[in-house]
Amino acid sequence: MSEFNFIHDLRSLSDPNHALNFEDDAATLPAADVICTDTLVETVHFLGTEPPQALAHKVLAVNVSDVVSMNARATHALLNLSLPKACDSAWRAGFIEGLERACAGFGLRLLGGDTTRSPGPLVLTATVTGVLEGRTLWQRSGARLGDKVCVGGRIGRGALGLRDMLNGRADTAMAEHFQCPRPRLDLLGSEGVGGCADVSDGLIADLAHICRASGVCAVLDLDAVPFAEPSEDWAQQVTGGDDYQLVFTLRPDMPVPPGCAVVGEVVEEGVEPHANQPVILKGPRAAVEAAQTKTGFVHF
Ligand SMILES: [Mg+2]
Repeated sequence: MSEFNFIHDLRSLSDPNHALNFEDDAATLPAADVICTDTLVETVHFLGTEPPQALAHKVLAVNVSDVVSMNARATHALLNLSLPKACDSAWRAGFIEGLERACAGFGLRLLGGDTTRSPGPLVLTATVTGVLEGRTLWQRSGARLGDKVCVGGRIGRGALGLRDMLNGRADTAMAEHFQCPRPRLDLLGSEGVGGCADVSDGLIADLAHICRASGVCAVLDLDAVPFAEPSEDWAQQVTGGDDYQLVFTLRPDMPVPPGCAVVGEVVEEGVEPHANQPVILKGPRAAVEAAQTKTGFVHF
């Protein structure tokens, strides 16, 4: 696939009303309530052995996940690609294939972007906008004393997927999740959500972000966490990232959204925003200690 064809195919994914066929110096801005951007760097965020279809999916998915964590539906994307020589025409064709599938799956249209040659690693950046459509904006600062702490689904698939990939097993279900995470669009509009974040840094770290932003402490009960592999290392699964689940607090009188699990509660308010360890771990002693060692958290 020539460079010309590459741009041509990207154009077919563009928004006819705003991208102006990529012929102008800029696009016009569609209505949007939230915007985010995320960069994936080869060997830092991905191994480099992933197929281009998966990388195209992932660079959009991680941004869509951030937009969903604010209760918004992703609508548009800007894409900046820095491609080393190894990204030949077959690679570019695979990347377009992955983009087409991801754009269709997420309901995204391209607004524009930039493609450059990279003398170093492959670098992929997407900027994604989203709309609230009348829903309430979810923020990390929305947690309140007495809220339940919930997760949207299994925790640990990102960490275990990376483990499998590093062991040369790219075809396991976990590795598939690591390469092609599925943001939780189905949870948009859930009622009674307080503070919310997506699990990209690891469940403990992302819950700690919510706690610090809200000035609260939360108990996380490891016995209640729906682990991807309950028989495997729990500490790895709650500290590894790349799950792209949602972690959120829920007002105490609200029903738990379908498929979600209650994993703890908000127990203290008025906590300094820079509190070292706002997440109090509960559960089997060995698991708690292992998780504390991994996060460097001090015991409460
Ligand atoms: Mg996030």
